[in-house]
Amino acid sequence: MRCPFCGNIDTQVKDSRPAEDHVSIRRRRFCPACGGRFTTYERVQLRDLVVIKSSGKREDFDRSKLERSIRIAMQKRPIDPERIDQMISGIVRRLESLGDTDISSKVIGEIVMESLARIDTVAYVRFASVYKNFQTADDFDGFVSELRPGAAGEE
Ligand SMILES: [Zn+2]
Repeated sequence: MRCPFCGNIDTQVKDSRPAEDHVSIRRRRFCPACGGRFTTYERVQLRDLVVIKSSGKREDFDRSKLERSIRIAMQKRPIDPERIDQMISGIVRRLESLGDTDISSKVIGEIVMESLARIDTVAYVRFASVYKNFQTADDFDGFVSELRPGAAGEE
């Protein structure tokens, strides 16, 4: 694994253990060239998924892209990173078990919103506002009040 700091390809694994979600192995790595430390996660990829964009364009599913958009929505929220990682794994498992390797970006967006709604209302609204691309403030308000009954009971 190449060092993300200096590019050295000869890095060492210091420690391997199952991550809390038990679907990945967490490896702590050390770069002898620059002294950098970083962590990698190794996961089973059950199937290669293809995302069908609303334009009809096909694109290989990329977990790290999904992760990035979720982390943006989760920014500065008091949520344990491990929990976010578990949620992302759960989303990917759901996508993989849909029964079709071609998945529309709309379906992915909906599954992400569902998962976010269960964990953090603010992150959910952030993601949804980007995802649904609200045109008017009224739309947004209506949407937020819609989500309140469903979100109750968790907190
Ligand atoms: Zn390095």
